[in-house]
Amino acid sequence: MTATATPQIPILDLKPEIDELRPEIMAAIGRVLDRSDFIMGEDVHLFEAEVAAYLNVKHAIGVNSGTDALVIALRALGIGPGDEVITTPFTFFATAESISMVGAKPIFVDIDPATLNLNPDLIEAAITPRTRALMPVHLYGNPVDMTRIMEIAHKHGLKVVEDCAQSFGARWRGTQTGTIGDFGAYSFFPSKNLGAYGDGGLLATDDDALADTARMLRVHGSRKKYHNETVGYNSRLDTIQAAILRVKLPLLEGWNAHRREVARQYNESFSGLPEIITPTLFEGHVFHQYTIRVVNNNRDAFQGKLAELGIGSMIYYPIPQDELPIYKGLFPVFKFSQMAANDVLSLPIGGCINTQSIEATVSAVYGLLHAK
Ligand SMILES: *Cc1c(COP(=O)(O)O)cnc(C)c1O
Repeated sequence: MTATATPQIPILDLKPEIDELRPEIMAAIGRVLDRSDFIMGEDVHLFEAEVAAYLNVKHAIGVNSGTDALVIALRALGIGPGDEVITTPFTFFATAESISMVGAKPIFVDIDPATLNLNPDLIEAAITPRTRALMPVHLYGNPVDMTRIMEIAHKHGLKVVEDCAQSFGARWRGTQTGTIGDFGAYSFFPSKNLGAYGDGGLLATDDDALADTARMLRVHGSRKKYHNETVGYNSRLDTIQAAILRVKLPLLEGWNAHRREVARQYNESFSGLPEIITPTLFEGHVFHQYTIRVVNNNRDAFQGKLAELGIGSMIYYPIPQDELPIYKGLFPVFKFSQMAANDVLSLPIGGCINTQSIEATVSAVYGLLHAK
């Protein structure tokens, strides 16, 4: 006699999507092999045009990763040593890392506990004569108040680079995130809402001159082969990844709608549980993560119990960036970032997550928090 194994619900399961799309993906990869245009091939150009149309932006520029997109955006804007860029401490390291990578200094300000995004009310007090840009992050797919960000940027003559790694398809008051600031930087890391099957990233901008500089920087700082103008990068989007992304782009709106619906169902199911705060269904939010806050000061134990029940979860992010060794001691304690790092927990979600996984997650969470 064998005991039935507890079904394991991973936080993200790419297998259903891959199974469904496999024939189309294999055919798309096959066409790249036939043409052998692996670097800056036909699919890269077509994907860039399709993304530009989808985002309603003039230029979409494929690069090697979301991190490179941020770095190239900053470089194209002329940001470097001596400059300061204001951003959120409650994000993935690549946000602040990109600022440090170009030689500038990240200046953190605390988050708004209602959105877990950079709090626009705190930005102006952090502006100095060296401030050059703002880098808001649409965390978990939830759009930052871009109206406020742009007002502050215009008032103080600052540039804006939107970190859209988690927000492909999210909209602020109907406008795509990443098309409001000077640059939007996107990631196609496999787990993102639009994920490649490897690394990939993209820059969006309406500015012809900035687009031209970014395109120059992605190929070793050259507009014309062997006429290198500056130290740039080898940061192109692979043709094979572009071919895969072209299969997936038309499905993104449906997947994002599914994510929102799953978030709505979770919120409804968890509404009676006093120990968790559920995320608000803000307009335009695409739920890259569905992240609750476990407010009984027992998040880690709760995560352990969920794991015993076979439910995967993740902590995005356990350490605010200002507390990492390279930035530690340079900033005051940010109360709300610290609070979030202590109590956030992301539950299973995805563009193709099925009812069975949602129900298993709901019954595990409900069972653990209601039964005592
Ligand atoms: C994933 C991510 C990045 C980096 O993207 P890569 O493609 O992995 O380089 C940057 N910022 C945020 C907020 C991210 O989630």
